[in-house]
Amino acid sequence: MKILAVNAGSSSLKFQMFEMPEEQVIIKGTFERIGLNDSFYTINIDGAKEKKEALLANHEEAVNILIKELVNYGVIKSLAEIKGIGHRIVHGGDKYSSSVVIDDEVINTVTNLSSLAPLHNPANISGVKSFIKMVPDAIEVGCFDTAFHQTMDEERFLYAVPNEWYEKYNVRKYGFHGLSHKYVSKRISEILDKKYCNIIVCHLGNGGSISAVRDGHCIDTSMGFTPNAGIVMGSRSGDIDYSIIPYMMKKTGMTIDEIDKILNKQSGMLGISEVSSDFRDIEAKISVKDKKAIMAHYLFVNSVVGYIAKYYVELGGVDAICFTAGVGENSPHVRNMIIKRLACLGLKLDYEANDNMRFGKEGVITKEDSSVPCYVIPTNEELMIARDTYELIEK
Ligand code: ADP
Repeated sequence: MKILAVNAGSSSLKFQMFEMPEEQVIIKGTFERIGLNDSFYTINIDGAKEKKEALLANHEEAVNILIKELVNYGVIKSLAEIKGIGHRIVHGGDKYSSSVVIDDEVINTVTNLSSLAPLHNPANISGVKSFIKMVPDAIEVGCFDTAFHQTMDEERFLYAVPNEWYEKYNVRKYGFHGLSHKYVSKRISEILDKKYCNIIVCHLGNGGSISAVRDGHCIDTSMGFTPNAGIVMGSRSGDIDYSIIPYMMKKTGMTIDEIDKILNKQSGMLGISEVSSDFRDIEAKISVKDKKAIMAHYLFVNSVVGYIAKYYVELGGVDAICFTAGVGENSPHVRNMIIKRLACLGLKLDYEANDNMRFGKEGVITKEDSSVPCYVIPTNEELMIARDTYELIEK
């Protein structure tokens, strides 16, 4: 059965087509700069990559081209072969604790949740509507970034603010990157061959979050009401004292939107290193002993170690710690710094294994006598979407 996994952002649309249940990727690609000048798309098939220019005024035009290309490349003969389309949807609020088949009610609910994710949910829904129009017979499924974290208890998701803020305005911790946390925690449970286990998942990408998972259920996570909370990220500050905001507004005359933009886009690794939000650029500067780049790394590692320590205690000990996403999968340097700081818990890094575990490799990076094994598990959010979509169709 052919299933499409779709991730529609405000100006991009990524897709992967899977043959299910074999979980084989048939074709994948990205449409970029939708609604902007110089839009283009890339298609990857059979190890070859092709880039093409195209005028993409909106998501619908991208979907139109995508469908034509699936036929051109001989992946499908007719649209009827696409049985399911799974969509990544950033915010499901507290309405969705698992993926769901999309109907009008889901579209309305997700649209109404846009005030919680003003950049993401409208783009996600625009993607969904385009596919409904172009492939009306396929079953559309919504896979929420927040769903996996819906198992958190009130004592973990509430903020210590007046109850009315939660009851009337939905102010609470939601958590994000749920598809990744679910995929990685499931994968490690298979590797350990343990259904009941305590896992810490460190999703360290451009955006980053850490979660504490018990027996496959999230009990806590570092992102909050928005993805800005938690660890230091590429260009996001992560946790800060909220009083800095009114203080800086008064000191500089900046508006709340200007401050918000700085905390989102000009802070984190970029703000401290003054080099880049990309760890590769920062690591290049560290190799020439750039002090600000070194400081950015320290702040990042401190924030990650802090959350690992907190979740180690919250879980009452752990069976494994997993690293995933761009930085977690590819930076032995960052993993080395983090695991060294956890030596007091009995963690022992295997330097050679750590150095070799990059670019899509999966495996253990600690020594056999480490109190807790640490693993690199390449994440696969698209596969998670395809699995959920397939499962809902088969039901
Ligand atoms: P997102 O999905 O949040 O955009 P990714 O999970 O793709 O992020 O991670 C992207 C980040 O991964 C890059 O910004 C970069 O900092 C980091 N990264 C990728 N490759 C490497 C590498 N070889 N060494 C260090 N960092 C890397």
